Amino acid sequence: MAEMNTLPTVTAKNYFDPDIEMAYMGSTQVKNFMRCEAAELARLKGEYRSAATTAMLVGSYVDAHFEGSLDVFQAQHPELFKRDGTLKAEFSHANDIISRMEADELYSLLMSGQKQVIRTGEIAGVPFKVKIDSLLDGNTCAEIVRRFPETASVMGLCDGAIVDQKVMRDLEDVWDGTERAYVPFWRAWGYDVQGAIYQAVEGHLWPFLLAVGTKEDEPDLQALHIRDEVLAPKLAEIEDAVPRFQAIKAGREAPRRCEHCAYCRATRKLTRIIDAEELEAPYGEAED
Ligand SMILES: [Zn+2]
Repeated sequence: MAEMNTLPTVTAKNYFDPDIEMAYMGSTQVKNFMRCEAAELARLKGEYRSAATTAMLVGSYVDAHFEGSLDVFQAQHPELFKRDGTLKAEFSHANDIISRMEADELYSLLMSGQKQVIRTGEIAGVPFKVKIDSLLDGNTCAEIVRRFPETASVMGLCDGAIVDQKVMRDLEDVWDGTERAYVPFWRAWGYDVQGAIYQAVEGHLWPFLLAVGTKEDEPDLQALHIRDEVLAPKLAEIEDAVPRFQAIKAGREAPRRCEHCAYCRATRKLTRIIDAEELEAPYGEAED
């Protein structure tokens, strides 16, 4: 606990600042470290920056809308606009997705909680920070069950729920290069890892829900619950993994290269000639 006292306070404004990112682990860091330690350390040190893709920016745009900070977001991101000052097609479509979300009663209730709630805590002795899109209280959970009785099995017995909003290309399975198989999108993108971290750091073990909208021409919606039985083994995996990630951040352990990601490709130095028959099949690269 003595160490906790020396940690800087996490706020909405400094949440992604480099010193805060170095002081606290977050779910994106864990997901990235699990994928490639070398790439994530380089990113945290500011030595490597994967371009913020338009796909990620669309997700942030929708988040900003629900947080009520779209004006600020637009002012900070001139790249949302065309030269004539109107929104680029992707962000104009994001407005359609938002309209679709807001027209749905259950979706709106799920997003009606306290927005962008920051919490800090520890997992396996490592300081963590999380930012929850919509934190529901017990009254809202009860109201959801009253209006939508079929949600009772998920929301019926809790004093709160953790909702994360996702804007996905679609709801189809995704190719996972590590598992070398098509897996549900929420597993491919590590939303089970995120859920386990959010639940542990928030501390109440409330249900972890995904409120999903898609970027398809006719945007689809879905409300998903990742059950505690799915999150528990993920948390155990995270507890095993994060002391090493923390040691890598502190410079006490050397990061391993995955040799498959964009960072590893960009920084590969040839030092030997390999037998052609030893060449590993390339991993399928995950998309946004
Ligand atoms: Zn790599």
